[in-house]
Amino acid sequence: MSASDDRIETRVIHAGVGQRIDGALVTPVFQSVTYAMQDHAAYHDIRYLRLNNSPNHLVLHRKLAALEGGAAALITASGMAAISTTLFTVLGGGGHLLAQRCLYGGTMDLLTREFKNFGLDYTLIDATDPAGWRAALKPNTRAIYVESLTNPTLEVADFEAVVAFAREHGLVSLIDSTFASPVNFRPIEHGFDLVLHSCTKYLNGHSDIIAGAVIGTVERVEAIRRQLNLLGGSLDPHACFLLERGMKTLALRVRQQNASALAVARMLEAHPAVVQVHYPGLQGHPGHGRASRLFDGFGGMIAFELHGGRAAAERCIARLRLPVHAVSLGGVESLITLPSLASHAGLTAQERAAAGITDGMLRLSIGIEAADDLLADLQQALA
Ligand code: PLP
Repeated sequence: MSASDDRIETRVIHAGVGQRIDGALVTPVFQSVTYAMQDHAAYHDIRYLRLNNSPNHLVLHRKLAALEGGAAALITASGMAAISTTLFTVLGGGGHLLAQRCLYGGTMDLLTREFKNFGLDYTLIDATDPAGWRAALKPNTRAIYVESLTNPTLEVADFEAVVAFAREHGLVSLIDSTFASPVNFRPIEHGFDLVLHSCTKYLNGHSDIIAGAVIGTVERVEAIRRQLNLLGGSLDPHACFLLERGMKTLALRVRQQNASALAVARMLEAHPAVVQVHYPGLQGHPGHGRASRLFDGFGGMIAFELHGGRAAAERCIARLRLPVHAVSLGGVESLITLPSLASHAGLTAQERAAAGITDGMLRLSIGIEAADDLLADLQQALA
């Protein structure tokens, strides 16, 4: 059995580890901007921190590639650095993007507010229904972009159709897989060209660094790395160290979050104060069949709406003892927000409505507290 046959619980620990420095179990922090040049070194051999090639970067590149089943990976200074650098690289000058109609607010802002300033264009599509995609194509369409589970509505795109459509029309298929994490879904196994992550969330898991990543073929990742080296969104080595440490417990954390989130979603679904629960692990969720077939778990994110809309949602947040009212997700502490006032506040009311985000929608990121404590806390807040 080779290292590439190892299960993900083993890969998060052992994949990518290079030569142990002085026998140290843990990769030390290489707090050095530059590295002594070897004799006869060429320009491409230069080692400099902005060029993303310190030992701390290289371990993470190997580990992330192994987790997603890609040939190469690149670590960036944030999820948005990964997303923007990748889109600028893939779309080139004057490119057009097909994008899922509901995406993380920052990504949506980039498309709707900034793209035109860079001569780029986009069309939003219903990624669950391929019927309308062909009509949205333009001569300059270069890529198609989805999320593994949309933030915050937890829509499950028709991933197989996205990959087939991209191949048929010569597009690059891109997926932000932050919500699923490689424990629950590995898009490259299903034919996606490039996988993006905000490592700030599940991959690091401790809400103490900002980081991002892109994984794919050597050629595609190398092209993105050249852009990143110039745009400058490189991750600091101490943040690399923390990310490597956080990733070692990814599988343990995500499995517990999957189990707790399913229990919480089922409780919410049966609760009289709740109008609707969006969680792909529930039988009634429109993406349940696809998620059951393609995912190894349904994730730790839940969106739900209460009778009484936003006022009721705000009362619920105020009464909760455990989930902290804070943006971000995927950490060990449970977090709760109103996306209309936080992650998606930058969108207009019409844009939020088109993406399916109501004013009273609550987004809950399940941490690794005891599920029974989370259930009891939510029940007392909803009572
Ligand atoms: N992608 C998703 C799905 C997110 O939820 C976020 C942040 O919340 C990002 C990307 C951006 O990540 P970062 O904050 O690390 O730039």
